[in-house]
Amino acid sequence: MNELLVFMCDGAPVRGEIVSISTAWQAVLERRNYPPVVRQILGDFVGAATLLSASLKFDGTLIIQAQSSGPIQLLVVECKSDLTIRATVKLSVDASEISAAATLGDLLDVANSGRLVITLDPADRQPGQSPYQGIVALQEHRGTVIKPVTTAAEAIALYMQNSEQLDTRIWLASNETHVGGLLLQRLPDSGGHTHIDPQIAAEGWNRIQALGETITTEELLTLSPDTTLRRLFLEESVENGVRSFPVRPIHFSCRCSRAKVADVLKMLGEEEVEGILEEQGSVETECDFCAKVYRFDAVDCLQVFKTDLLFDATRPPSSGH
Ligand SMILES: [Zn+2]
Repeated sequence: MNELLVFMCDGAPVRGEIVSISTAWQAVLERRNYPPVVRQILGDFVGAATLLSASLKFDGTLIIQAQSSGPIQLLVVECKSDLTIRATVKLSVDASEISAAATLGDLLDVANSGRLVITLDPADRQPGQSPYQGIVALQEHRGTVIKPVTTAAEAIALYMQNSEQLDTRIWLASNETHVGGLLLQRLPDSGGHTHIDPQIAAEGWNRIQALGETITTEELLTLSPDTTLRRLFLEESVENGVRSFPVRPIHFSCRCSRAKVADVLKMLGEEEVEGILEEQGSVETECDFCAKVYRFDAVDCLQVFKTDLLFDATRPPSSGH
């Protein structure tokens, strides 16, 4: 069950999404030993990334990055428009030092330096063109009151509110085998398909939100998106109509390759690489996302730099990617 379902309500200006991820999430966790609290935060962000990616009309890679001086130094979740995902966490302390009761606020040092960076990197991005980045402070300012964000769902809803100017509600749940999520978004009253009377639109949004609020963690983690939709919005469906679109599959996929590691070695430079070879006999690196190990021995390294010479002789220098 790795599926995302999009639905529209006929009786309210609402677009919704339901996601359920199992084996693709298990692939993210493979060979990883994150403490349960860290795993849960990562899972929530994986769910959020798929929901966001499917809601933005955008062809490319959506990257959610959380950076902080807290125990979670860096968290990265990537989701491409075709709903392939990969994700990783870098801890600044030993996993055993993380309390089982730690919250997102504790782990991401929300009170001080914690922030979320959401990057939209278009598939057709030209060299030199920078991707679109939105930065979300993990504190919500309400007048003079500063409220720290406590869940991934809250952080993403805040981002949507700021960037898309659309009211958005998100519910997320994750455990060691599943990630589940529900997103509800209020569409503009007019424009798009039809014009809806503002009062009816407001009532409809409230009604759908109230139905959304009845969703349980258990349901998010066990039901297929289709079953959740039928169970949650049965009455709405009978009275006003709810239309769903064909479910879209979600896959785990890493973009690492031996060629990319070779590029990194080239950037390090021949001298530096020779130093590592002398010390360790070979250069070994592990992919942060899929834990795949790439090993370059002396012959491999020689080839890397030799190819570079040939490359330079026949073509203009690469301008990066
Ligand atoms: Zn990889």
